Amino acid sequence: MPSTERVWELVGYEGRRRHDVQGFSRVASERVSSIRSEHGSLDSALFDRDGLNPTQEKIDQQKGSIQQAIQSDPELTEKETQYIETQQKARNSTFRNLIREAYANTCAVCGTQRESPTGAPEVEAAHIYPKSEDGSDDIRNGIALCKLHHWAFDCGWISVSDNYTILVTTASDKNGYHEMKQLEGQSLHLPQDENKYPHSMFLEKHRELHDFD
Ligand SMILES: [Zn+2]
Repeated sequence: MPSTERVWELVGYEGRRRHDVQGFSRVASERVSSIRSEHGSLDSALFDRDGLNPTQEKIDQQKGSIQQAIQSDPELTEKETQYIETQQKARNSTFRNLIREAYANTCAVCGTQRESPTGAPEVEAAHIYPKSEDGSDDIRNGIALCKLHHWAFDCGWISVSDNYTILVTTASDKNGYHEMKQLEGQSLHLPQDENKYPHSMFLEKHRELHDFD
């Protein structure tokens, strides 16, 4: 069952005081239909059965927590690993949006800003110290990359020095090496806000993971 507070928060009772309210029949039908359109159904609004889309409330919650994190020293991994599914979805999409925003939808490696015909940005939000190692959703552990460079970064073709220049792995016998090699020594396209630059702790871990040092 949802808590009384949750019901109040959602249906609002049109500003009436709590003790004036006798039952659910007083809830304006327009309010109910707006809840339905926002959450899919009353049930999903009240019971968090919003398997498809996290509520705005959850997104705002995660946005606050991710944005607040850059005020303090970064943590390598997520302390709280047991996010419930909807929280995790909200967190993922918030992380993605904040990283895209910080990098102005630009690939940090090649500087492209491709869009789909409907205007959706191609760039993806990569974790520097990866999610598979439980890397944290800290903005300083994120970097915006086009699909090619996301792949190249994740599989260890490229990494980044503490001075934000691109490093390329020496695997000259592999296909793709000559293409990657051209990126070596180039500077990253960084966010405007210095507080959102990749943190050296995560960069170091990425280099370590792929035997760069
Ligand atoms: Zn790129």
